[in-house]
Amino acid sequence: MTETTIKGNIEKVSGPLVVASGMRGAKMYDVVSVGPQRLIGEIIELEGERASVQVYEETSGLKPGMEVESSNNPLSVKLGPGMLNNIYDGIQRPLALIREASGSFIARGVNVPALDEKKKWDFKAVVKEGDEVTGGDIIGTLQETDVIEHKVMVPPTVGKVTVKAIKSGAFTVDEIVAEVEDADGKRQSLSMSQSWPIRLPRPVQTKMVPTQPLVTGQRVIDTFFPIAKGGTGAVPGPFGSGKTVVQQQIAKWADADVIVYIGCGERGNEMTDVLLEFPELEDPNTGKPLMERTILIANTSNMPVAAREASIYTGITIAEYYRDMGYAVALMADSTSRWAEALREMSGRLEEMPGDEGYPAYLGSRTAQFYERAGIVKALGSDERQGSLTAIGAVSPPGGDLSEPVTQNTLRVVKVFWGLDEKLAYSRHYPSINWLNSYSLYVDQLASFYGEKAGDDWSVLRTEAMGILQEEASLEEVVRLVGLEALSKQEQLLLHVARSIREDYLQQNAYDETDTYTSINKQYRMLRAIINLYRVAKDQMEKVAYSMND
Ligand code: ADP
Ligand code: MG
Repeated sequence: MTETTIKGNIEKVSGPLVVASGMRGAKMYDVVSVGPQRLIGEIIELEGERASVQVYEETSGLKPGMEVESSNNPLSVKLGPGMLNNIYDGIQRPLALIREASGSFIARGVNVPALDEKKKWDFKAVVKEGDEVTGGDIIGTLQETDVIEHKVMVPPTVGKVTVKAIKSGAFTVDEIVAEVEDADGKRQSLSMSQSWPIRLPRPVQTKMVPTQPLVTGQRVIDTFFPIAKGGTGAVPGPFGSGKTVVQQQIAKWADADVIVYIGCGERGNEMTDVLLEFPELEDPNTGKPLMERTILIANTSNMPVAAREASIYTGITIAEYYRDMGYAVALMADSTSRWAEALREMSGRLEEMPGDEGYPAYLGSRTAQFYERAGIVKALGSDERQGSLTAIGAVSPPGGDLSEPVTQNTLRVVKVFWGLDEKLAYSRHYPSINWLNSYSLYVDQLASFYGEKAGDDWSVLRTEAMGILQEEASLEEVVRLVGLEALSKQEQLLLHVARSIREDYLQQNAYDETDTYTSINKQYRMLRAIINLYRVAKDQMEKVAYSMND
């Protein structure tokens, strides 16, 4: 590139925010390097030639006058084989490499490649010389892990081109595997990797209406509040109510091809648990390590706040890339409240007008933009390929108060709400998803899937069970006031059945070998057994009552 370098100087430093002057020509969201250690930052506000930069590393030691240089490129991720099985920080630096480069604590200004630059992958071309291809088309494949075949795609920015040369063989991510030429005779080389700016959604042909559930094996989710493949969901709940366990259960058991798990640690040790536990887990479907289909993005609480802000975009861009290959991808973000707090901190330092509880006025639009990147899509390219990206975010409202801005803004955009309940968690009813206020807006869309896969009467059973639980809630009020004896035999029966639904069906122990996962078929049979018991008993009671009246 022949662009002139844009260099300015630090004017002031405020925590993770650096203001630099003399940055004429710089663009919003461009990556800059700051100070002699060349710390990585991103321009988040521009006023004339003054740029406000959020720095993804500890800024102590930075002083006015030090140099700030723009890379002229937006903050991007490098997409290609080698992401699965990896643990990244918020800006796609492999944690293992950072550690290697800097010892046990993370040094600053460490520049490590996102993808292994030396490893050779066995690339098999699937198009040949003379073929016409376009952005999104698959030109070759390679086995990224035992369970996932990586599809090498023409970058979305490339239009119609003709393949001039392509070769199969062992290559690194940066080696050229194909040459293409457009109608004007302009040539371009393609490798197995491509980069994409994290704040820009990757383009698709069309978004479609979700009709298939992401099957999680968690009964309260699949039966009562299902999420669609390509859907959006939120798990709000106070500290200790089970948000992380819900997300991890989905990461382990959901029938997704690829999992992207973004951890924004609430407590320092929480991410450590994930980092230690995940690599040990086995994929129940393949018996292989779960990490072979997983990418972890870890922000421990000692990492700078700005990296947390970026991490959800890094994660969702990687997720979109695997979606584009035609995979069902599920993304978990735990917890988005930590992301929103990072946003609030940066906004405060920019001295923007604060909105609700100090969060910036754009919290709502940013939240919506994030979840809008989920969906089931026809992928870009000339062949028919479908992929999905399901996005599930935990929210940790302070004191469990759901009226706070992060929860409210999230609930405005997501279609599934699994409301975790402190009282349920306290009485060890897990998952502590409150069946009275949780909801899924996908129930109708998914009904025919369940009808076919489980049984015709799936929806009937579900509705009846929900009705029993609601009836129980209103009867409980009566029992509290006048005692159990005041209820009719039929009502007592209903309470008995409701208890069975709660304790035998809704409760599910994540740590029990058998209970941790229930197939859709087994869910159906369990629910049918409970509801049948109710129907038969009710019937008998009515007959007896009838004959006694005789
Ligand atoms: P949060 O992320 O909301 O702070 P966690 O997900 O860490 O809460 O859950 C707190 C604790 O609750 C867990 O360590 C576990 O003991 C218990 N728990 C949560 N869900 C389940 C479950 N499905 N089965 C058994 N125990 C659970
Ligand atoms: Mg948690």
